[in-house]
Formats: sequence, C-alpha cells, structure tokens
Amino acid sequence: MTFENSLEYARAQDRIDPLRAFRGQFHLPHRGGRELIYFTGNSLGLQPRATREMIGRELDDWAEHGVEGHFSARSPWYSYHEIFPQQLAHVVGALPEEVVAMNQLTVNLHVLLTTFYRPDRKRYKIICEAKAFPSDQYAMESQVRLHGLDPQDAIVEVAPRAGEHTIRTEDITAVIQLHSSSVAVVLFGGVNYYTGQVFDMKAITAAGQQAGAFVGFDLAHAAGNVPLDLHGWNVDFACWCSYKYLNSGPGGVAGAFIHERHIANPSLPRMAGWWGYTKASRFEMKSGFVPIPTAEGWQMSNAPVLSMAAHKAALNLFEQAGMQALAEKSRLLTRYLFYLLDCINTDQGHTAIEVITPRGDGEHGCQVSMLMKERGREVFAALAAAGVLADWREPNVIRIAPVPLYNTFEEVWQFGHLISSILSTPGAQAPSI
Ligand SMILES: *Cc1c(COP(=O)(O)O)cnc(C)c1O
Repeated sequence: MTFENSLEYARAQDRIDPLRAFRGQFHLPHRGGRELIYFTGNSLGLQPRATREMIGRELDDWAEHGVEGHFSARSPWYSYHEIFPQQLAHVVGALPEEVVAMNQLTVNLHVLLTTFYRPDRKRYKIICEAKAFPSDQYAMESQVRLHGLDPQDAIVEVAPRAGEHTIRTEDITAVIQLHSSSVAVVLFGGVNYYTGQVFDMKAITAAGQQAGAFVGFDLAHAAGNVPLDLHGWNVDFACWCSYKYLNSGPGGVAGAFIHERHIANPSLPRMAGWWGYTKASRFEMKSGFVPIPTAEGWQMSNAPVLSMAAHKAALNLFEQAGMQALAEKSRLLTRYLFYLLDCINTDQGHTAIEVITPRGDGEHGCQVSMLMKERGREVFAALAAAGVLADWREPNVIRIAPVPLYNTFEEVWQFGHLISSILSTPGAQAPSI
C-alpha cells in the first residue's frame, strides 16, 4: 500500500470507502456550530441516529402498557435481551450460548472472577499486565483480599522490558511458566488502553491453560475494535463494556463471555439471581438455584431495557457493516496515520513523535498512542483549539482512535496536517479546520 500525503488523496480514499455511508448514521459532535474531528471513540463512541427512536419506543410502550410491557411491548421486555447473544457472538467471535449482555464491565469482572478465581493454598496467583486499567487493578486486588490473601504476593504483573513500551508475548508466557505451580488465573486486557497494543490472546490462553490456570480477558478496548475469536482461542471467560467502540451510550449495558465447556456446568460456583434461573420454571419461584445452561446462567437481574435499546441500535450497525469490513477499513485508516506521522518525523529531520503502538499485523486496532518528544502539551492544546477531540495521558502521550464506522481519511489527514503545521511554526496557533 502506498499512501500520499495530500488532502485530495485522503478525499479520494473516502470516496471509494465501502463503509462511507455509515458516518451519516451517527450524530457528530459540534462546537460553536462547527463539526469536530472526533477521535475519542475509544473512550465514548458516538451516538447512532437510530438510538433515540429505539429508546423512545420502549418509553412509549412503558407509558402505554405499564407492567404488561414485559409481555405486551412490541419487543417484550421479558425476552428483550435475547437478541444480543446472536449480535454479540459476531462481534467477539463466540457461540451465541457463550455470551450475555448484562451489568457493567467492572461488575462483570467481579462476577466472572467469583466463578473462575477459586484460590487454594497451592494455586492462588493472578497474572496480569503491569499498568492494567485502574478499575481492573482494584477488582483484582479486592478479589484477592476477599479470599484473605495478600495482593503483593498474589498478583503478578508482567511489564515491558526497560526502554520498551509494549509487553512481549514471550515475556508473558515466560512469567506464566515461572508461576505454573501457583497461578490460578491469567487476566489480561485484549488491547492495552494506554499503548493500544493488542495482546496475543490465543498464545496467552494456551500458555495459561497449559499451566493449569483459567484465562480471561478484559475486552473494553477490543470489543468492536479488533477481530476476536474467543471461542476458537479457547478463552475461559471475558467481559467488555459497550460505550467505547460499541457506541451504546455512557454507562451502557456490558457483556460477558463464558466458554462453551463451562456454561452447562451447574456446579461452577457463581453469584446467582433469578434472571439466571432456568426459564421454563423461573416463575415457580422455588428455592434451589437451577442455572440456565448458557452464559445467561450468570445473569442476576432482569434486563435494563432502556440501555439495551441503545445497545440494539448500535449493534444493528455492526451487523450491517460486518466485522471483517470494519477491520479492513480500520487497518487502512490506522496505517495512513502511521504514514502521516512518519512524514512529520521526516520533515522535522528527527523523531518528534514516537509511535508507541505496535505496527505489526494484528498488533494494533484503531488506537494509536503517540509519545510527544517535544511541545506535546502545546500540540495537544492547539489540536483541541482547532476542533480535534483527542486524549492526553501524562506525562506526554496523545491517544487517538480513528474509528472505521464514522471517521474518515480526510480527518486523519487533517490531524497530521495540523500537527505538522504546529511543529513547523514555533509558537504559532494551529490553523482552523
Ligand atoms: C473503560 C474501562 C473500564 C471501565 O469500567 P466500567 O466498569 O465500565 O466503569 C474498565 N477496564 C478497562 C480495561 C477499561 O478500558
């Protein structure tokens, strides 16, 4: 693939983009009447235009039917969530029985660790990535303490080597092997939120299971971003949120995956509630929990229909676009960004921007993290003033995520052009977009 650093070229790429029509399906944020360049879909995905109507439908049915909406709404609330296994299975590479939409992400992490983290005197360690997302760190720490163990001893972190930003797969598997007699769970992100590194989930799963551990992934930054094959990789459990790449709204209903070989095992300990109870006899309200023999057996509460309406509107778009087409466009968008950043460094005559996201096939998704070697804050402020929504991480990292459903090559070009202008003119203001 040979790219060109020009607005005409970027626009030409947009014209031949098979997914170009999807941008029109979203509300694009504005400021002062001007459309912004939105590169923070890894933090909160944009609102699909269909969302309002989908939620409105449930509000109308609630107004009209009251409690009877559970059975007489146009999409009865009693079974409202049952469409998700099909839609989510496509997104995360699973069998429909293996996935369920429920709760929130950190809650699901706890729910799944309750089942899969069953430490005993011998096996009690959790192996994870260093600098995992804070909520995951707190979840692991508190799980360890719930079992009366010491996080210092029980949590083993794998870090990048000195001078490197990303974690090598061989280092992860080496640490797993080193602790193979004491590891209970291996828990990694699918995509590291800081560097954008996609972990080799297949290799980590194989290594963890060979060591006798259960292996799980937090897919917050992976679901809807990179191709996943949770079933094929033999992952034991996983969870994700729906408000990042999945565009299902702030605090939207999250998801969970439990591998086929575990779902029908009623003896697996779990946090139980009535919505995980066998459907045919749920309303007999008998004592003694009999789980649904699918991932729904981990469901505790009845479905949050309003947030699920938003989820449905968003997943419909994933279904229409197809994960493969999305992955293909994402690859091109991100590679174009890599190319433009390389152009900037060449123009500057030195590395002004160090891309810390790995560039290899399958090693990155949408997100690109840039270590700004000079004038980082100034560049970030100028980008913001010019109408680009990006993300700043201390001490000097700018993260952006060109998202294939609604971002364009032109926007990526504008981003590179703005940075180039700022770096080439000391102290100057960025031009307006
Ligand atoms: C976004 C994110 C979270 C947020 O958790 P919530 O329970 O949805 O608030 C947790 N973990 C990771 C890795 C994330 O990226």
